[in-house]
Amino acid sequence: MSDCCQNNQSEESCCRFEDTPEIKYFHSYRKDGTSYTPTFSDAVDQEKCIGCGQCVKVCGQGVYILIEVNGEKKAHNANADRCLGDCHCHKACPADALICKPKVIG
Ligand code: SF4
Ligand code: SF4
Repeated sequence: MSDCCQNNQSEESCCRFEDTPEIKYFHSYRKDGTSYTPTFSDAVDQEKCIGCGQCVKVCGQGVYILIEVNGEKKAHNANADRCLGDCHCHKACPADALICKPKVIG
């Protein structure tokens, strides 16, 4: 299992972190009562990011801003603490540049 969500993969394939005796993850529940492990904004891969701004556009929490790095636009997760773990940014990013991780709660 990868330790982060991958672009354009469904929740079914990318957010299945199972608890272990040592690690407990924060879980959420769907309307049908089944559980999943949401992942939250952790970093932007600056090598992959093409500065398109899609993550800024789709994130309703204002997690991302565009900054200039060596003359190129790049996304930065300036407000990661606001992330709701809904994966909208992953689905919108054309460059597979967003790295999210589940919350460890115990
Ligand atoms: S998972 Fe949702 S709330 Fe979190 S950064 Fe992405 S779009 Fe914003
Ligand atoms: S959507 Fe992806 S490529 Fe576009 S600015 Fe955001 S992180 Fe960069």
